[in-house]
Amino acid sequence: MNNPFQNALEQLKRATFLVSFSSDFLEQIKHPNRQMNVSIPVKMDDGTLKVFEGYRVQFNNARGPYKGGIRFHQDTDIEEVKALAFWMALKCAVVNIPMGGGKGGVTVNPKELSESELEHLSRGWMRRMVDVVGPQKDVPAPDVNTTPQIMAWMADEFGKITGDVSGAVITGKPLESGGSEGRGTATAQGGFYVFEALREQLLLPEVCSVVIQGFGNAGEHAAHIWTRAGHKVIATSDSRGAIRNLDGLDISALSEHKKATGTVAGFAGGETFEASELLFQACDLLIPAALENQIREDNASYLQTKVVLELANGPTTPEADDQLIARGVRVIPDILANAGGVTVSTFEWEQNLKEEHWSEEEVFVKLKTIMEREALAIFEKATTLSTDLRRAAFIIALERIEEAMK
Ligand code: GLU
Repeated sequence: MNNPFQNALEQLKRATFLVSFSSDFLEQIKHPNRQMNVSIPVKMDDGTLKVFEGYRVQFNNARGPYKGGIRFHQDTDIEEVKALAFWMALKCAVVNIPMGGGKGGVTVNPKELSESELEHLSRGWMRRMVDVVGPQKDVPAPDVNTTPQIMAWMADEFGKITGDVSGAVITGKPLESGGSEGRGTATAQGGFYVFEALREQLLLPEVCSVVIQGFGNAGEHAAHIWTRAGHKVIATSDSRGAIRNLDGLDISALSEHKKATGTVAGFAGGETFEASELLFQACDLLIPAALENQIREDNASYLQTKVVLELANGPTTPEADDQLIARGVRVIPDILANAGGVTVSTFEWEQNLKEEHWSEEEVFVKLKTIMEREALAIFEKATTLSTDLRRAAFIIALERIEEAMK
C-alpha cells in the first residue's frame, strides 16, 4: 500500500530539485503545524455507545486560515489526512486564494449509519474541534462522503457553542444555511475551465472521448458538464461497477439509474464491466474522480489516454507519474484541476463574512477567471522549465507559500 503522505513528500522532493528554495523553508514545509486525533462518542440507535476516531491536520497557515474538507471513510487515517492537508496548502496557493491548508476526517463508513447517527457524529466532530476551528482560524468543508447537510449540522453546532452564527466557520453548506451558489458543481466546473484553457496546448481534439472514474460529488457533475459541452463520456464507474457505451453514455438517464439503484452498474444504456478495468479504457481524456493511489507503478502502463485530469486528490503515485511522462501522457495535477471546489468555498466564506449573496453567474465568472489564469501560468512555467505540469504547479505554489512565510 502506498502511503499518501510519503507520496506527497516525494512529489515535493522532485519539484524542489528543479528550483532553489531556502533549506529552512524546505525543512518546515514537510511538517504540519499541528495534527489532532480525537475520539467522538456517538449514541447509536440501538442504545449502545460507539466511539469513532476523528482527525484534523492544520498544515500551513502562512497565506490565511487553514482550509480543507472533512472526509468520512472507513480507510481514513491520520497519514491520509496529513497528505490531503499538505495538498490543500499547495492547492490554495496554486489558485492564489487567501487560505492555508488543512484537512479533517473520521474513520467510518457513513453508509452504515442512520441519519440521526450521522448527525450525532457530525456534531460530535465539531464539539471536539470547536476550539481550533473558526472563520479566521480554520475553515472546514465537504470531502469524500460528506454533504451540505453535514456541513449545516456542524455550522449549527459551532453557532450554538460559540454564538458565531455567521456560518463562515465552514463552507459547502446548503443554500438556505448560507451556502454559495455553484458550490455543489464547483470542483467539476473548475476542472472543466482548466481543461478548456489547456485543451489546444495539450493537443486534444475538439470533441473528446472521456472516461471518468467515480460518480460521486466530482465525477457525476463532471459527466454532465463535459457532456453538455459536446464531449462524449464513454465510460464511468463507482465502487460497485463500471458502465461503458462507446457512442457516449446518456448521463441524465445514468444519474436517474444511480439514484434508483445506488450504482452505475446495471444501467441499460451501456455495457456493465469490472470497475478495476475502467482506467484501461481507450479515450482522449481520463478523469480520476474517486480516491488516491489509483494510477500506480503496476497499472500505469495499461492506460490508453492522452491526458489525465485529476479531479480526485492524489490519484497518481510518483512512480506512475514517471511512466506517464515517459510515454508522453500529460497529467493535469490535482492541486490545479480540482481547486475549483476550494475556490468557491472561499467565495462562500467571503459572502458569509460580508453578509452577501452572489449570483451563480457571478460565482462562475470569478471562478473561470482564476482557473484559466492559473492553468495558463502553470503551463507556461512547465514549458519554461521543460518539466511536467505537476512539478510546475508545485513550484508556483511553493514560491507563494515561501513568500508568505517570509
Ligand atoms: N475537499 C475539497 C478539496 O479537496 C474542498 C475543500 C474546501 O472546499 O475547502 O479540495
